[in-house]
Amino acid sequence: MTLLEFSGTLESSLSKVNINHKTDIQSTDMKTMTCKQLGGACDTEFHANSFEEMAELSKKHGMEMFQQGDKNHLEAMNEMEALMKTPDSMKIWFETKRKEFDALPETK
Ligand SMILES: [Zn+2]
Repeated sequence: MTLLEFSGTLESSLSKVNINHKTDIQSTDMKTMTCKQLGGACDTEFHANSFEEMAELSKKHGMEMFQQGDKNHLEAMNEMEALMKTPDSMKIWFETKRKEFDALPETK
């Protein structure tokens, strides 16, 4: 999901519920995490409003690196894949990263 699609989804779900919403709800508050922080292999920064979006950006970047055959990212992805074989450790990893994300200061 792109940021634009994400805002669109948010916007339409907000308009369905009859509340007085401000259109600028946190939409400008972005958080930053690097590829490395998310289990990758480089210092590329991702900016997102939610952890789900952050994970999506990281995944997309990982796929691009995979297609380019980047060795460091291939190794990082192998490690992630090994982790995903056990659902529990994947869940723990995900929650750990989510907490890391939550603890980050918001940048505008
Ligand atoms: Zn990377």
